Amino acid sequence: MQRSYFLLPRIVSNYGCKVRSPWLSQHRAGTASVAAATKQDLSEELTDIKNAGTFKHERVIVSKQGAKIDVEGSSQKILNFCANNYLGLSSHPAVIEAGIKALQTHGAGLSSVRFICGTMDIHKELEEKLAKFHGKEDAILYISCFDANAGLFEVLLSQDDAVLSDELNHASIIDGIRLCKAKRYRYKHMDMKELESQLQDASSCRRRLIATDGVFSMDGNVTPLGDICDLAEKYKAMVFIDECHATGFFGETGRGTEEYFNLDNKVDIINSTLGKAVGGAAGGYTAGPRELVTLLRQRSRPYLFSNSLPPPVVACASKALDLIMEHPDLPHLVLSNTQRFRNKMTEAGFALTGDPEHPICPVMLGDAKLASEFADQMLERGIYVIGFSYPVVPKGKARIRVQISAAHTEADIDRAVDAFVSIGRQLKVIN
Ligand SMILES: *Cc1c(COP(=O)(O)O)cnc(C)c1O
Repeated sequence: MQRSYFLLPRIVSNYGCKVRSPWLSQHRAGTASVAAATKQDLSEELTDIKNAGTFKHERVIVSKQGAKIDVEGSSQKILNFCANNYLGLSSHPAVIEAGIKALQTHGAGLSSVRFICGTMDIHKELEEKLAKFHGKEDAILYISCFDANAGLFEVLLSQDDAVLSDELNHASIIDGIRLCKAKRYRYKHMDMKELESQLQDASSCRRRLIATDGVFSMDGNVTPLGDICDLAEKYKAMVFIDECHATGFFGETGRGTEEYFNLDNKVDIINSTLGKAVGGAAGGYTAGPRELVTLLRQRSRPYLFSNSLPPPVVACASKALDLIMEHPDLPHLVLSNTQRFRNKMTEAGFALTGDPEHPICPVMLGDAKLASEFADQMLERGIYVIGFSYPVVPKGKARIRVQISAAHTEADIDRAVDAFVSIGRQLKVIN
């Protein structure tokens, strides 16, 4: 034990100093030049990204997340219109209090994965609550929804099966599908004709799974879930939806896309996040049939080989979910704010896409430079929004994506619209 500590400095001291062994000298020189060459390559790649105008600068927030935030380098309060904080629960006093309490009673974390010694009473309680919330038999927690998506498909599907996936599905669904051996079909965005012909093609497979985002985050459009469920019934397929941009606030009581279309429990499997509307800390889950959830606990790699969700995070999500269930008016608040924004913007002459009832409101501008300049000017007026352009969205379809929250007041919404109108006139987007 002790000896290995002594060895360490000696090896390190060879690096870049007097070298005793000729082999070592060659080896070091080799690694050094590979490292230098790689550094050079990476730096060129970064320059390319900057030249393409797609380099992402991260603004630094120095307050809690909320409708009004403090941003480094700005002395005024900024109105935030680009968070996934749809219900304003990320820094709700009751959520914060629940997190602090759990930190005191259950500690910072488990230093373990779930199956060794990382399962607590509060994990089980939250899983039960999530299953009940979605009307499913059981639920399993992950560190993130990215992990839930990475861990699902490999467990459920083998080479005898087929997965049919919308081409615009979230990156984590695409990655999760890459990890499984099922036959892969990618249908054109929300194209039910193509989905149907692929289902016919996959008719000899043992299982067919249709996989789609419930709501697509770039366009704010909602998948035609009723049609998907009809096709699933006709061709004996299962339906999986990712509800990250729906859980907690979309549909009459916030149950998501299934509820929005009144499809009582037609969806087999739901993955979603606790890192957006449901408290906004972190965490993801799968809700579905009991046997699937039990099998995931046995086989799902991100679950088996990654740490348990920290107790304060569990408690924050659990409290947020309580608030959502106790206040069924919250989704209505998001909806009325959304309608106020959409109506005023459309009246002013802006082109908005997406579902009229969804709080993701893409303001279409077309040109990438225009979108980025528009967003910069909005920030100067104290409104934080982000311009999206190629390659995140198709060329010529640059936009500013506005996200409405229940935490915004009507005055906040109006201030944002006023800024859009005056900058829009100045930049000749509207008359
Ligand atoms: C945000 C998001 C995820 C990832 O969720 P995390 O919990 O942050 O990992 C997955 N799918 C969709 C559709 C998302 O919008």
